[in-house]
Amino acid sequence: MAYIEPAPIKDKENPFESMMSRFETAAQHLGLDESVYNVLKAPVKQVIVNLPVTMDDGTIKVFEGYRVIHSSILGPSKGGIRYDMHVNLDEVKALAAWMTWKCAVVDIPYGGAKGGIRCNPRQMSTGEIERLTRAYTKSMLEIFGPDRDIPAPDMGTGPQEMAWLMDEFSRSVGQTTNAVVTGKPLVLGGSLGRTEATGRGVMVSALAAMEKLKINPYQATCAVQGFGNVGSFAALLLEERGVKIVAISDLSGAYYNANGIDINAAMQHRNNNRGSLEGFAGGDKMEEANQLLELEVDVLVPAAMEDVITINNAHNIKAKLIVEGANGPTSFRADGVINEKGVMVVPDILANAGGVTVSYFEWVQNRLGYKWTAERVNRRSDRIMKDAFDRVYKTSVEYKVPMRIAAYIVAIDKVAKTYKFRGGF
Ligand code: NAD
Repeated sequence: MAYIEPAPIKDKENPFESMMSRFETAAQHLGLDESVYNVLKAPVKQVIVNLPVTMDDGTIKVFEGYRVIHSSILGPSKGGIRYDMHVNLDEVKALAAWMTWKCAVVDIPYGGAKGGIRCNPRQMSTGEIERLTRAYTKSMLEIFGPDRDIPAPDMGTGPQEMAWLMDEFSRSVGQTTNAVVTGKPLVLGGSLGRTEATGRGVMVSALAAMEKLKINPYQATCAVQGFGNVGSFAALLLEERGVKIVAISDLSGAYYNANGIDINAAMQHRNNNRGSLEGFAGGDKMEEANQLLELEVDVLVPAAMEDVITINNAHNIKAKLIVEGANGPTSFRADGVINEKGVMVVPDILANAGGVTVSYFEWVQNRLGYKWTAERVNRRSDRIMKDAFDRVYKTSVEYKVPMRIAAYIVAIDKVAKTYKFRGGF
């Protein structure tokens, strides 16, 4: 059957189109060469594979898998693998480009990539997922490699899938190669500090931004949307540094406490309640969960999902600072409203880059054959995040642009300059 690409989402508020619009704005500010612009706009490699997998009932089902390498200019490409029914080439291409800018903005020596398989992991058995993961790995033997392309978990995948990937790759090349993938279980060479790394980076960039805005953390209030990996650790670490977290939310609703929510208690409640804040008594449940975004707070951390601050609610935002824990929480059209209001935004490609930074540390440790302490991991990732924040802030002053465009300018400039040295054909 001929390959039919699922229709790309045409919605103007689509987070990936938002990302490309910002790329274009930053390229204009930089006066980027048209030829270099064309090189950076399109991915260098797009691979589509069909993966026949024997299901538990004995039938064979064919899954479509993708891997897109947007750029290897700065180094081996890096990016997650998602298992989801909506995975399509267009989305994977955009996410791969996103990874290029994210790695470049924090100055780690990686290019950008992304992969995925169109499947519904919730309707598959563990054995079926394992066979699918091994089939995908086998089909990507010439793409993956510790010096070529290094996958990681994304939506629908986690440490177990990464362990299977590492095992299949190692068997195929005849030697244990744990640096081929990050996000592995600790016993297989995963890094200490990875679980809290993204939330920690959010905390570091929030504190750096508060310093610029002269907001004293001990007198500051904060609302956090999303209480998963990123949101809960960001809240916990900000609370530890004196910030009063007055509201948190998840799919069950939003919880408000003017005296500050006890984040440890909220995490405990969630952990004992199948991941949900439902029934949490440490705050009053708000009537509308999305009201959290419009609270009168100093800092707002959207850490749930994309496209939550849009043209429809941007004018109601009262926070002085937005630190984007999630990918793409603010739409392109909302940017204008937010900027006009004078709200500082620490953009996703900077604020949530703590995760990829510690993934890079995992790869470094695997290649060294050595394990760092959590203290060393945290110290080094804090330094990388703070340096990246300072670079982006300086660029935003120099070019008189918002932090978001400044982050893209920093990233594109780095990749473009490196490309000029490396050269083309
Ligand atoms: P997660 O699945 O652990 O948590 C998501 C949380 O958001 C859950 O608490 C969920 O209930 C909540 N949520 C979902 N929809 C919501 C809504 N409409 N309103 C309020 N809460 C809602 O996911 P995560 O790993 O914390 O990722 C969150 C975001 O951060 C995503 O955009 C992800 O792409 C991005 N991100 C994650 C990492 C990482 O290392 N985990 C790194 C970079 C970016």
